[in-house]
Amino acid sequence: MGERLGKNRILLVEDNRLTAAMVSDFLIKNGFEVEVVPSGEKVVQRIGKGMIPDLILMDIELAGKMDGIEAADIISKQQDIPIVFLTANTSKEIMEKIKRVKAYGFVLKDTDRIALLSTIDMAMRLHEASVYATMFERLFETSVNELYIFNPESFKFVVVNKAATANLGYTYRELEGMTVFDINPQLDIEGLREIIKGLMHGKQERVVLDTVHRRKDGSLYYVEAYLQLFEYRRSKYCMMFAIDVTERKRVEDELEESRKQYVELAQEAPIGILKCDVEGNVVYINKKALEIFGSSNAGEISNINFFTFPLFVESGLSQKLKECMVNNLSQTVENSYTSKSGKNIWLRIHIKPLLNKDGMVKGAQLILDDITEKKEMERQLYEMSITDPLTNAYNFRYFIRKLEEEILRAQRAGESFSLIVFDIDRFKSFNDSFGHQVGDFILRATVDMVKGRIRRTDTLARWGGEEFIILLPNTKLEDAAKLAEELRQRLMQLKVGNNESVTASFGVAEYQEGDTAYSILKRADAMMYKAKNDGRNCVRY
Ligand code: GH3
Ligand code: MG
Ligand code: MG
Repeated sequence: MGERLGKNRILLVEDNRLTAAMVSDFLIKNGFEVEVVPSGEKVVQRIGKGMIPDLILMDIELAGKMDGIEAADIISKQQDIPIVFLTANTSKEIMEKIKRVKAYGFVLKDTDRIALLSTIDMAMRLHEASVYATMFERLFETSVNELYIFNPESFKFVVVNKAATANLGYTYRELEGMTVFDINPQLDIEGLREIIKGLMHGKQERVVLDTVHRRKDGSLYYVEAYLQLFEYRRSKYCMMFAIDVTERKRVEDELEESRKQYVELAQEAPIGILKCDVEGNVVYINKKALEIFGSSNAGEISNINFFTFPLFVESGLSQKLKECMVNNLSQTVENSYTSKSGKNIWLRIHIKPLLNKDGMVKGAQLILDDITEKKEMERQLYEMSITDPLTNAYNFRYFIRKLEEEILRAQRAGESFSLIVFDIDRFKSFNDSFGHQVGDFILRATVDMVKGRIRRTDTLARWGGEEFIILLPNTKLEDAAKLAEELRQRLMQLKVGNNESVTASFGVAEYQEGDTAYSILKRADAMMYKAKNDGRNCVRY
């Protein structure tokens, strides 16, 4: 409603022209807008055509067939307009008539003008109050939420609204005789008294309660209830506003349940899961991730910052993580590190930025896959692919690759390297005299002996049956020949059968400009054959 705009308009119904002039003059001087109508018929007509004044000041005895009471009766059935009567006397008969219509008061003609003003003012206020009351009554009744007014001493219902009766399944009549406890299985007198104590002592304005209501059919529903106290005619009443939250509760419970399941799933997952904020602070870590970091204590890890955690800084992961968050991009990296127990661990780490509702990066999720076993298997497979299974020397295929690399390096750096080829002498006779197993043993022992003598940068490979080849980077011919001579002598210490020495014939060659793998191998091989021809167990270069 708010402020009324402009002046209040009064419709004055008066047949006496003098009275009409005097009264309207007075009212206009006091800030009203006034229109005068001379008869009952006329005023009914005006209102019927849609005129709505703020108040009608009505003379009772009017010229014409219709008196003021009759006119008021007709008008009040059409429009809610406050009517104040003007009367010349207060006879019993007039008073009775006034009571029969919906009037807001009466004023005696020719009395105190102040009394006229105050009666008009009060009639207008009263009317406004009744308009508000009607509006609130309608709000109360049509609210989709349940409203209950009950006595805070007896807890009996005084008024309930339609929504309450509808949800509970009781009629208004049934609820009239009931108390709060008849619809609320969770409350009892002591409990509810305790709950509204603050309201009763004026210490609290409102109490919110999560509780349950029971319908007539016995079914229950969750409610969120707001309790408030008000006073009416020196008595206290409690107003309860209840929202049926069953559906909300169900959705919340479901969400909570699925959240729990996801947390458990993440917690027990066979991969490590971590989350950090934009500053790199760990905000979540699952069991497997703890295990990967060799810690059983979540507290210890959750104090970690990924940007400063040594393991992450050293492996460059901190930098990667920052990059991913700054550029909002996912990345997968493989990283190895040494765990607390000293084990070398390989991780595949998938970094994915996490966004907030506005699409801004709020942190990152890290999925850690322990690929140590896979890496070890890969390594073993690779080893197998480059070694000879009997002797554990490299195989010829790997040797050729190394040799070609070495040739390229020699060409680029102008450095030299050498090759030693050796073939065990009369190996066939060892096999024939002592069996294949002894032959195999000799091959392994030979490899072990050579491996024990050459440098880490040198490469020993098995060329064929009992023929071996050694690549010696950064080695001149004379030095390679010296080494071959030493190997020859050492091999002789390997004895079989009747104290028979194992011997071999050695050929040595050095890289020369323009050499291919084939040409240098051929030269070394030729030297080895020369040694065989020169009587075996010697070095030729
Ligand atoms: P030479 O001094 O001329 O080299 O005579 P040799 O008997 O060593 O040469 P030959 O090439 O005639 O014989 C090589 C033998 O090595 C033949 C083969 O049976 C044997 N052999 C090849 N590979 C293996 C192996 O893996 N284990 C064993 N025990 N013997 C092998
Ligand atoms: Mg041989
Ligand atoms: Mg041979």
